[in-house]
Amino acid sequence: MAVIVKGADVAGSIKENIRERIIELNNLGKKAKLTMISVGDDPANASYERGIIKVFSELGIETEKKVLDSNIDQCEFDSAFTEVNEDAAVSGILVFRPLPKSLSIEFAAKTINPLKDIDCMGYYNQASLAMGRKDCYYPCTAEAVIRFLKYEKIDLAFKNVVIIGRSVVVGRPLVSMLISENATVTCCHTKTRDITDRLRNADIVVTAAGSRGLLKGEMLKDASKDCFCIDVGINMREDGKGICGDIDFESTEPVCGKITTVPGGVGSVTSTLLAEHTVRAAESL
Ligand code: NAD
Repeated sequence: MAVIVKGADVAGSIKENIRERIIELNNLGKKAKLTMISVGDDPANASYERGIIKVFSELGIETEKKVLDSNIDQCEFDSAFTEVNEDAAVSGILVFRPLPKSLSIEFAAKTINPLKDIDCMGYYNQASLAMGRKDCYYPCTAEAVIRFLKYEKIDLAFKNVVIIGRSVVVGRPLVSMLISENATVTCCHTKTRDITDRLRNADIVVTAAGSRGLLKGEMLKDASKDCFCIDVGINMREDGKGICGDIDFESTEPVCGKITTVPGGVGSVTSTLLAEHTVRAAESL
C-alpha cells in the first residue's frame, strides 16, 4: 500500500510561512492584494476561483475580481489589463485563461510587470524559468509538484522523473524546474509511442494530461518499487459525481510507494502558492 501524500499537509506547511511574512509586511506598512481578471464569467474557472478566495480569505489577503465583458475587443482588453498592471495597490495579477478566441494574451504577456506576474504568464518570467533561473516566478501548478517533492524531502539528483503532458502551463515548465533540481527528466505526450516503456526505472511520475485513468498500475511494472505518483489532472468522474485525476488510483496505489489524490492533492497546493507569490510580490514592490 502506498503512502498518500495529502495536499492539505503540504499547503499547511506553506501557510505557516505565509502568515509570518504577512505580519512582517504589515509592520512595514505594506499590503498584499491579488487582482483576478477574467473575460466573461466562465463556469470552468469557478471552482479554481472559489479555492483561491477560500485560501486568501483564510490568510487575510485581499482579492479583487475584474470581470470584463465577453464582447470586449483587443484594445479594450489591453487597456483594462494596463490599468491593473499600473495600479500601485495591486501586488499580484492572475488572468484566467484561455481567453476567448477573439483575444490574444500577447500584449499582457509582453508588458506585465515581472514582479506582479505571480503565475508566470509573462515572457520575462517564462524565459527566466527556461534559462534555469530560480529567482523568477514559477507557474503555481507546476511549482506545487516541486513542493510535494520538497515536503517529502526527496533529493532529485540521480532521480528519473517521467512527466505525462507537455503544456505551457504545467508539463513544459515542470521539465525546466526539475532539471534545475538535478532530476533526469522524460516528457511524454500524445505523440509518445509507448508510455509504459518510458516509465522503466521511473522514481517519480507526474500526470498532467487531463485524461481520466491514463496511468494504470500495470504500466509501472518496470518502474522503481517506491515510485512516487503525483496527479495534476482534473477530470470529471465517469459517473459525473465530482472530479478525479489522470491516475487510476485503484490499480496504481497498491503498486507504488507514494501517491497523491484528486481531489485533495495538487489543486489545494496550487492556490496556496498563488497566495505565497502574492505576498512575495508585495514584499518586492
Ligand atoms: P493541456 O490540455 O493544455 O495539455 C495536456 C497535455 O497532456 C498535452 O501536452 C497532451 O499532449 C498530453 N496528453 C493528453 N492526453 C494524453 C494521453 N492520453 N497520453 C499522453 N499525453 C497526453 O492541459 P493542461 O492545462 O496542461 O492541464 C493538464 C491537466 O491538469 C488538466 O486535467 C487540467 O485540468 C489539470 N490542471 C490542474 C491544475 C491544478 O491546480 N491541479 C491546474 C492546471 C491544470
